[in-house]
Amino acid sequence: MRPFTDEFPKSMLPVAGRPFLHYQLDWLAAEGIDEVVYCLGYRGEMIRDYVGDGGRWGLKATYVDEGAQLRGTAGAVRLALDAGVLDPAFALLYGDSFIRLSIPEVWARFEQSQPPALMTVIRNEGQWDRSNASYENGRVIAYDKAAQDIQPPARYIDYGFSVLTSEVVAQEIPPGTTSDLAALFHALSAEGRLAGFEATDRFYEVGSPAGLKDFEEYVRQRQAAPVIRTTASRRRIGVLGGGLAGLTVAAHLTSDCEVLEADERPGGHCQTV
Ligand SMILES: Cc1cc2nc3c(=O)[nH]c(=O)nc-3n(C[C@H](O)[C@H](O)[C@H](O)COP(=O)(O)OP(=O)(O)OC[C@H]3O[C@@H](n4cnc5c(N)ncnc54)[C@H](O)[C@@H]3O)c2cc1C
Repeated sequence: MRPFTDEFPKSMLPVAGRPFLHYQLDWLAAEGIDEVVYCLGYRGEMIRDYVGDGGRWGLKATYVDEGAQLRGTAGAVRLALDAGVLDPAFALLYGDSFIRLSIPEVWARFEQSQPPALMTVIRNEGQWDRSNASYENGRVIAYDKAAQDIQPPARYIDYGFSVLTSEVVAQEIPPGTTSDLAALFHALSAEGRLAGFEATDRFYEVGSPAGLKDFEEYVRQRQAAPVIRTTASRRRIGVLGGGLAGLTVAAHLTSDCEVLEADERPGGHCQTV
């Protein structure tokens, strides 16, 4: 991502006048998240200066700084565990990914499932990058970021959001090591210990100039569209009536909602839907 990242860490890349992470935090807050832990690496002070205590988003923000010794994604999570800032179960989002799914639904799936970790995936069929996950009946049964030939054949790709227990981090990631979370997820999938959740909305990433441009376009389109924000947007919203008004409101709400319609078909008096 040079020359962009000469000046900024990826999370702070400007997108339509705001750092990328601003959009991530907006989304997390709207999904009901109230605390974030930043694993800081390259130019981490810029992130800390911008996010501060997280109060601007109604969040509590804390930081774990790797300094100059970068340890990979798994090593960074282990450092956070050792710093005592992780809950017994926590969600993980990469600093360069923007995604859209219902976190309460992911969390409910995680709690229902026995495995110590959950990975979100999206049907890919080679569309975004090489498919790397096989997903079936709420489980990721094979995941490998490096292998060419995954069995059963991979039709999914990791979506960039996962849930882990502190226990599995303590057991599987030795302190002080440099490693990637992909290795942990690979091992857990092979052992039948990786739950899955299928996302349906495409993800965005700012790890490449094309990805950054793509996300900028998405943001500009959203800014052009009328957006309804409610003070209740931290919870799921029920829209009463699926007539013209109800369906229009549901289409524009930024947070997860459900249209509650008494009739057998939507559309109300309009009846053209
Ligand atoms: C005969 C007729 C012709 C029309 N012609 C035109 C026209 O040519 N041009 C024009 O612009 N407009 C026209 N209109 C007006 C237009 O159809 C309405 O203004 C518009 O559909 C109203 O939309 P709405 O979403 O506000 O309400 P509605 O379409 O009435 O939708 C309300 C929905 O809420 C549901 N509901 C109600 N109570 C509950 C509950 N307790 N729980 C769950 N669901 C509930 C209902 O089943 C319904 O689906 C016409 C209307 C009629 C009746």
